Amino acid sequence: MKVQGHFHRGRFAPSPTGPLHFGSLVAAVGSFLDARAQGGEWLLRMEDIDTPRNVAGAAADILKTLEAFGFEWDGPVLFQSTRLDAYAAALERLKRAGLAYGCACSRKEIADSARHAAVDGGLAYPGTCRAGLPPERSVRAWRLRVTDEEIAFADRLQGRVAQHLEHDVGDFVLLRADGLFAYQLAATVDDDFQGISSVVRGADLLASTPRQIWLQHCLGFATPEYAHLPVAANAAGEKLSKQTRAAPLRTDWAAAELVGALRFLGQPAPGGLENASVGEVWAWAKANWNFAAIPRRPAIVVP
Ligand code: GLU
Repeated sequence: MKVQGHFHRGRFAPSPTGPLHFGSLVAAVGSFLDARAQGGEWLLRMEDIDTPRNVAGAAADILKTLEAFGFEWDGPVLFQSTRLDAYAAALERLKRAGLAYGCACSRKEIADSARHAAVDGGLAYPGTCRAGLPPERSVRAWRLRVTDEEIAFADRLQGRVAQHLEHDVGDFVLLRADGLFAYQLAATVDDDFQGISSVVRGADLLASTPRQIWLQHCLGFATPEYAHLPVAANAAGEKLSKQTRAAPLRTDWAAAELVGALRFLGQPAPGGLENASVGEVWAWAKANWNFAAIPRRPAIVVP
């Protein structure tokens, strides 16, 4: 499923941890219109491997909501829960290449010995088990070796983004202590498997991208282009998420919700379009989509 030539393929990859909310709609609308405006495909992937966070019925509810909002995706939905063998094979390759190693450290041990504050509210892993497990300890998680060379990319919206993984993140987890594959590994393997040429997603994931680019290098995958959309934040500056109990999208109000997402993305939807049909909103959006109008900021406060 490798991308040939300049064919454009985007994707939307929700996690079934609850119903879609306005922030998820923005990511879906942005990635969908970016793909369609370039005559490309748009794929759906259900990121359902973090089983403790899955909510019963959420995956079906998300698909129903996307349909009600008039999204059309190409091919079958890829459920990550069907892809565990592929993640295991990728981890095996990294182990055999000496790039992945077993780690015995608990969260508390890492917190106690961490040298630097890092991304995602976590701490940089100090490399305790890099040269082998301490005596009498057993493997809890599998980590990927990183280096301190700069990993940089040109985001289509946020500009140049760079990290020194060793300093900023440390060797990161591929297989968690609870036996679940980490998001970073699964998303990287699947973006390659699905032949994604362009990742358009929320800027809350901006700090993950250098880790995914490093994984692509380690696994011999191509690097797609990236655009990180502004995320909707509340007045306290927190991202609207299922965790901060953002309101679920109203399917009986789909046209208005879509118009809200378009305006959030800088698209000047004319007044009154919220009262039109979903089909009319999409017709306007497809005819007038202007990527250059998207605000080049990581977050926008919405009332
Ligand atoms: N499943 C992730 C989320 O819901 C998105 C992953 C991605 O777009 O790479 O936040």
